[in-house]
Amino acid sequence: MQMEFLSRPIANVIIFIADQAQIFWGNLALLNFSWQQIVIDILLVAVIFYFTFSLLKGSRAVHVLLGLSFIGVFYFLSQALQLVALGWLLDRFLTVVLVAIPIIFQRELRMGLERLGHTTLFSKQQKRRIDRMIMSIVDACDVMAKAKTGALIVLEHTVPLKEYTDTGIELGAKVSKELLLSIFKPKSPLHDGAVIIGNERIHAASCILPHSFENTASGMGTRHKAALGLSENTDASIVVVSEERGTISFAKHGKMQTNIDPAELQSLLNKSFQPLKKKKPKALKNTSKKPNKKQKA
Ligand code: ATP
Ligand code: MG
Repeated sequence: MQMEFLSRPIANVIIFIADQAQIFWGNLALLNFSWQQIVIDILLVAVIFYFTFSLLKGSRAVHVLLGLSFIGVFYFLSQALQLVALGWLLDRFLTVVLVAIPIIFQRELRMGLERLGHTTLFSKQQKRRIDRMIMSIVDACDVMAKAKTGALIVLEHTVPLKEYTDTGIELGAKVSKELLLSIFKPKSPLHDGAVIIGNERIHAASCILPHSFENTASGMGTRHKAALGLSENTDASIVVVSEERGTISFAKHGKMQTNIDPAELQSLLNKSFQPLKKKKPKALKNTSKKPNKKQKA
């Protein structure tokens, strides 16, 4: 009895899929495509999907895409099982969401397209600019570590950091070693808080970052917790210079490597600017715990 109850909807789904497949192949046959055209077509669609996912990887748009796929599956089932009311509701909902997406993810889409352009047309020029910026940051951190000057430097990647940039003082200046040293000079009005860098420019200084709620390593102060906190929520790369110890640390994806030397910092920063290459995190020194067991502060 129970089996009979289940088998009808399953049969409906199978019939629906078979109908759709038949219509699809019928259309292909009607349009008289050559097999070469079909192969090229499918390959190009696969490449577009691959690059879209590579660009979105690590950004909040991925969660929205997953949510939409989930609703898409429900929509498909509602069509297959002829659930008219649910189908109608999801149809209206998906239309509204699809129209809203370009508005909500305006910044991510723009950054993604800019990145696509940079990886193809302007890659050499862009690479030189990034290398110069990385060298300025590494040199400034080396000087500050030796002088035990505290610093917190954030590099924006695909996830926009506007909400944090807005907490500081807007600068919009080119990154240079001298400017970073002046900002973090202990008596400078901007030395407290973080500097946020995006598109090779210092967007703002004195920015407040979210603290990590994880079981951070004992002895870790608020500057290091703030670096870790932002790295748990975004794909930003964060460099910390400790005022107490004169050490350099690097935080990304909820993990922190502490006490690294300038050469290691340079290599970590270089890696974080190669988004389309597969990144395998190295074994971490003094690594903090994984970001899953949330602990209320
Ligand atoms: P250090 O090793 O340099 O002493 P720490 O991790 O022990 O760093 P604190 O000694 O508490 O941390 O450093 C305090 C400084 O860290 C503040 O003066 C401020 O500049 C910075 N800081 C603390 N919290 C934040 C935050 N949420 N966002 C940005 N900067 C912060
Ligand atoms: Mg301290």
